[in-house]
Amino acid sequence: MTSDRAGDGVSVTGPPPGRGRPVAGERAGRLPVTEDTVRRWHAELAWLPVGGVRPGVLIEAAGGRFASVRPDVRAADVPAGTVRLPGLTLPGLANAHSHAFHRALRGAVQAGQGTFWTWRERMYQVASRLEPDSYLALARAVYAEMALAGITCVGEFHYLHHGAGGVRYADENQMGRALIEAAAQAGVRITLIDTCYLSGGLGNDGSPEPLAGPQLRFGDGDGDRWAQRVHALGADRHGLLAAHARLGVAIHSVRAVPPGQMHPVIACSHAFGAPLHAHLSEQIAENQACLAAHGVTPAGLLDRVGALGPRTTAVHATHLTGGDIEMLGGSRTVVCMCPTTEADLADGVGPARALASAGSPLSLGSDSHAVIDLLEEARRVELGERLVTGQRGNFGAAALARAASVDGHACLGWPEAGEIAPGALADLVTVALDTPRLAGLAEATALESVIFAGTAADVRDVVAGGRDVVRDGRHLLVGDVPAALGGAIRPLLAS
Ligand SMILES: [Zn+2]
Repeated sequence: MTSDRAGDGVSVTGPPPGRGRPVAGERAGRLPVTEDTVRRWHAELAWLPVGGVRPGVLIEAAGGRFASVRPDVRAADVPAGTVRLPGLTLPGLANAHSHAFHRALRGAVQAGQGTFWTWRERMYQVASRLEPDSYLALARAVYAEMALAGITCVGEFHYLHHGAGGVRYADENQMGRALIEAAAQAGVRITLIDTCYLSGGLGNDGSPEPLAGPQLRFGDGDGDRWAQRVHALGADRHGLLAAHARLGVAIHSVRAVPPGQMHPVIACSHAFGAPLHAHLSEQIAENQACLAAHGVTPAGLLDRVGALGPRTTAVHATHLTGGDIEMLGGSRTVVCMCPTTEADLADGVGPARALASAGSPLSLGSDSHAVIDLLEEARRVELGERLVTGQRGNFGAAALARAASVDGHACLGWPEAGEIAPGALADLVTVALDTPRLAGLAEATALESVIFAGTAADVRDVVAGGRDVVRDGRHLLVGDVPAALGGAIRPLLAS
């Protein structure tokens, strides 16, 4: 079953993967399981949307979706051929904010001192070296690392669109297609959040600064030309790009998209029912520049152009006013927190509790991939809140688990994923409980133990769309994930 497809020369030109090769139920939005076979698993413990953690859960799937879920079934009573899942089984986790190529910077940017802005310069150096084939290899390895961590769906906030100097590839979407193919090869679902990125920042007089250097690769000229390219990706009217891929759109930030250019992005979101994401108030300097240029905060600017709402996700939302929190919560805009990146970049701690209380669902992202571990992202939301407020108990384990699963999937346009329930996409993540970190836990508090002490290294088995992706800690499609990562990253960092 195991194969390593590195170097198999997969082309990233031409139509999106999956196109022209329809499989049963492709448009139903599931991973390309080859047939509608029935599969069964018996989870020692499973976290269910009703009843919480239950023992002896018999889970049945057909055609990539759960067909039935029954707790309290004794091992002696399960049908022949049922796969045993020792540990705590969770639904698939959603990584709602990723820039795959930032993975190459891990560790290297920890040497010496620096700021967000010096980190950004190093990030641009890596960006300047990537081409479609090398990006396919890197993203495939990064998404495989995500699968090993229990992530079955990634929201790829994609802005590295063009070649050096901004020269278009023969297929203007070649980089985006490389990411879609990478996700297929790694066995995860993807929302390709195609990002509009037009200017290099806001000048002192409030005018947008032109793109320069590596940033030229990000730009499409204006919002309409961005939209033309995105339409050429070939999504159907529901936003599906392939069995495992759907379209999302993004306003990179108020720094990178002038308000007069935001409408094509919003219109594209409406046309495809596509999730709309935006970096928001990650840095105080961004707020100051936006106030100086437009007289409102970044949240106020997005509200002014009609960009907020339940299909929108504000990424970071770290430095907010009380009015911003009311606007985001009142509009039911999702907030994606990326706590390990926000800590790594010294951004600050966003007001998660206030946002959730105001009405914003929370999701989680590993963003710059300082680490890829959604369990750590989840607990850091609560731990950050404790450090800021001096109070415990702001978010319970179930609320944090929902952010990592069902709410994360919803903000990526997959509301049918993220719960172990009949009808949902058949994604399962089993966390081993016999590891040094989790051994000895009490069954009644298994979810609390996993969320507050578990790590990506404790993930043992992963099923996505009814298909085994990780078995006993080993990636079944990529094989040697560390070798794939090393092989993809070393050429990017070589001097
Ligand atoms: Zn980001």
